[in-house]
Amino acid sequence: MRKKIAAGNWKMNKTFEEGQILLSEVVNPNVQVVLCVPFPYLSTFGKMIDTDKVSLGAQNCYPKASGAYTGEVSIPMLKSVGVGHVIIGHSERRQYFNESDAFLAEKVDATLEGGLTPIFCCGETLEQRNEGIHFDFVCGQITNSLFHLSAEDLKKTVIAYEPIWAIGTGVTASNDQAQEMHKVLRDHLASKYGQEVADEISILYGGSVNGANAQELFACPDVDGGLVGGASLKSREFTNIAKSF
Ligand code: PEP
Repeated sequence: MRKKIAAGNWKMNKTFEEGQILLSEVVNPNVQVVLCVPFPYLSTFGKMIDTDKVSLGAQNCYPKASGAYTGEVSIPMLKSVGVGHVIIGHSERRQYFNESDAFLAEKVDATLEGGLTPIFCCGETLEQRNEGIHFDFVCGQITNSLFHLSAEDLKKTVIAYEPIWAIGTGVTASNDQAQEMHKVLRDHLASKYGQEVADEISILYGGSVNGANAQELFACPDVDGGLVGGASLKSREFTNIAKSF
């Protein structure tokens, strides 16, 4: 059975003190909760929480293990402070830092090699949806960055479908739109790896998820949870989302 996951992406928000308060307020219900916090907080937060219950997540990584890559953070470093999950290919990284599908494939490989779980993000722009090329585009992102993986490694990967037009906009994909894309993605995975493998992959929805819409979204048969930005910065809201399964 694939995992139900509530993942929070704090992005570049909260000071260390504010983050500690928020962390202490998040209630852990009976699902996998992942908190992707800013790099500087990971080490301390790893000691503050029971990482068996709440997984600590990073928002990015560099694919090389070590070396002269000023300013970058490697998977062995993340692992050494208790990180369990790594967001890879968030649309903000693709857009502002020009991260390509091929580069993201390297990050996925490094993450899996290190024994951590990639949360691989994909999603289309509004223009692509309006042009009717959204299914092909998002399946292409999956093909380009994940289809070199063995079935065993793919099964260790979490996918987050995040339509760019829904991220931070307050506009959520409808339940039908989310389910439709998640089913297309699962079918796409099945076309390469078989239905049994595809059925084991958790596919999260991201894009203006909140305490009021999470329950309906998570009730969609192919939606296995959420990757949550803005609402993960409010402990009560995020706790409500995590309780929405
Ligand atoms: C995100 O950035 O991953 C995200 C889904 O943000 P928000 O929930 O704020 O739309």
